[in-house]
Amino acid sequence: MDESALLQSVPDRLLIGGEWVEASSGARFEVHDPATGAVLRSVADATPEDGVRALDAAVAAQPAWASTAPRARADILRRTWQLVQDHADDLALLMTLEMGKPLAEARGEVAYGSEFLRWFGEEAVRIAGRYAVAPEGTGRMIVSKHPVGPCYFITPWNFPLAMATRKIGPALAAGCTVVLKPAELTPLTTLYLATLFEQAGLPAGVVNIVTTTASGPVSEPIIADPRLRKLSFTGSTGVGKRLIAQSAQNVLRTSMELGGNAPFLVFEDADLDTAVDAAMLAKFRNIGEACTAANRFLVHASVADEFTRRITERVRGLRIGRGTEEGVSIGPLINDAAVAKAERLVSDAVERGAQLVLGGERVDRPGTFFAPTVVAGVRAGSEILREEIFGPVVSIVPFEDEDEAVRLANATEYGLVSYVFTRDLARGQRMIERLETGMMGLNVGVVSNAAAPFGGVKQSGIGREGGIEGIEEYLETKYTLTRDPFAR
Ligand code: NAP
Repeated sequence: MDESALLQSVPDRLLIGGEWVEASSGARFEVHDPATGAVLRSVADATPEDGVRALDAAVAAQPAWASTAPRARADILRRTWQLVQDHADDLALLMTLEMGKPLAEARGEVAYGSEFLRWFGEEAVRIAGRYAVAPEGTGRMIVSKHPVGPCYFITPWNFPLAMATRKIGPALAAGCTVVLKPAELTPLTTLYLATLFEQAGLPAGVVNIVTTTASGPVSEPIIADPRLRKLSFTGSTGVGKRLIAQSAQNVLRTSMELGGNAPFLVFEDADLDTAVDAAMLAKFRNIGEACTAANRFLVHASVADEFTRRITERVRGLRIGRGTEEGVSIGPLINDAAVAKAERLVSDAVERGAQLVLGGERVDRPGTFFAPTVVAGVRAGSEILREEIFGPVVSIVPFEDEDEAVRLANATEYGLVSYVFTRDLARGQRMIERLETGMMGLNVGVVSNAAAPFGGVKQSGIGREGGIEGIEEYLETKYTLTRDPFAR
C-alpha cells in the first residue's frame, strides 16, 4: 500500500469491548512524522472515563477467555502471527512513518515482534503444574497455574510493535485479558495490530486499546481499580517508579522494563573486527533509541585508539535521511527534546575534557536529526556516562585492567544489558558473574530473542519478558493440599 492509503486504513478510534469508538469527550490528537514534522493522522484522545470503560470490557471478557481451551488461544496467536507476516510491509512502513526508524530496521522489528505471538502461542499449550507426595508421606500436594486476570499495559514509542507483542503474546497465552495504552507519539502501529487480532478471531474485549495525550490521568484510575490484577510497563525508570508507587495501593503485580546504561567492554584480546561490527549494531540500531543501546564503550587502553579509528570510519559512512529512503541507516530522533538531550550530553563530555572525533550537532534539515557522533577519552563525572543517551552517540572511555573495567561497568544504577568482547573464555565467564546486568552479549551486539528472558536488574526493572520465564509473569501459582488418599 502507498503511504496515504496505508495511513487511511488505520483505525483512528479507541478499541473497547470489540467496538471502535470515539473518545467520550470527542477529542482527538495528531500523530507526526519525525522526519518531516508532517501530520500523519489524528486519533481519538481517551479520557480517564474511557480508560475505565476499557477495563470494564477486559474484566467482562476475562472469565470466558480464561476458560477458552489453550489450543484455541494458541491458534488465535498463531493466526495473528501469520497475519502480521502477510502485512509485514504495511506494519514496517507505519513504524517508519510514526517513529522514524529506517525501513529495513522496521522490517526487522516486525520479524522480532511477531515472534512473541508465535512463540507464546506454542507456550499456551504447555502451561502445567505439579503433583507431589508430601515429605511426610501423608498428604498430596497439587500446584496449579491460573491466569493472573485483567492486565494493563503501557508501552513506549521506540519499538511500537515489539513492546506491545512482548506483553500481549504471553498474556493471551496465559488466559489474561488486556487494556493497552501505546505512547502518544506512536499509536498507529498498535491500532493496526489490533485489526489483525480481530481478523484472527480474537473475541471482543480480550484486547482493548486506549490512545491518549493524558497518560497519567488515564492510567491512575485503571491502576487504582481493584479489578485490575497486573500492570506491565515499558519505559523510563522515572515513570516506572511512579507506577510502582501507585501499584503499591492494591499490591498489584507489576512487570517493569525500564531504562538502561549498557556498558560495551572491549578487552585487549578481543577480535576488533567482531567488536566494531557488534558496536555498530549495539549503538546505531534504532538510531540509538533503544534501552539496550550501548551507552558506554569501555575499551582497554592498548586498543582504544585503534577501536576509535575503526568505529569512526564506519560511523562516517552512515547515511542520514527519512527512514523510507533507500540506503538510510540513521533516521530522525523522536523529537526536539531528544536532539537537545544528545547535544547537551556531548557538550558536557567535551567541556569535561573528551575529544569530539565526529559529529556532535543537530543536522541542518527539516525534522529532528542528530549527526552520528563519536567522543573519545570521556572523563569520569561526565553526564553522558550517567544518563541514557538515546541517540547516535559513541562515547569511549579507556580502562587499564579487568578490575577497573568491571568497576566502571557497574558504576550505574541501571543493570539491563552488557556487551563483552574477549577471546578468553574464562574472562567471559568471569564477566557473566561480575557484571550487574540482567542480560549479556558475549562477543555479540544484539541479544533480543522471543525465546529468551529479557529484563534487567537494579533500576532497570522487575520481571522478564520472553522465554519460559515470560509466561510466568501472567500466571498465579496455587497450592492445594489434599488428604492422604489411602487414609481411612
Ligand atoms: P516514558 O516517557 O517513560 O513513556 C513510556 C510510556 O509511559 C508511554 O506510553 C508514556 O505515554 C507513558 N507514561 C508517561 N508518563 C506516564 C504516567 N505518569 N503514567 C502512566 N503512563 C505514563 O518513556 P519513553 O520516553 O516513551 O521510552 C523510552 C524509555 O523506555 C527509555 O528509558 C528506555 O530505556 C525505556 N525502554 C525500556 C525497555 C526495556 O525493555 N527495558 C524497552 C524499550 C524502552 P506518553 O508518551 O503518551 O505520555
